Amino acid sequence: MMVPVRCFTCGKVVGEHWEEFKERSREGDEDPKQVLDELGVDRACCRRMLVSHKDLVDIVAPYQ
Ligand SMILES: [Zn+2]
Repeated sequence: MMVPVRCFTCGKVVGEHWEEFKERSREGDEDPKQVLDELGVDRACCRRMLVSHKDLVDIVAPYQ
């Protein structure tokens, strides 16, 4: 699915960081920890939103 716009726990907007996080940590070879630090996502509840996310929207969309 799409990345949630806000953190489920604290409500901070985290969706705006998804594209940069994905490119820098998964396709690049930067440490995800360092990317999150530089993006200003410092709470554990917000970090898990990005770290645990997987884009499935293109895979699931044809079956809806
Ligand atoms: Zn949070």
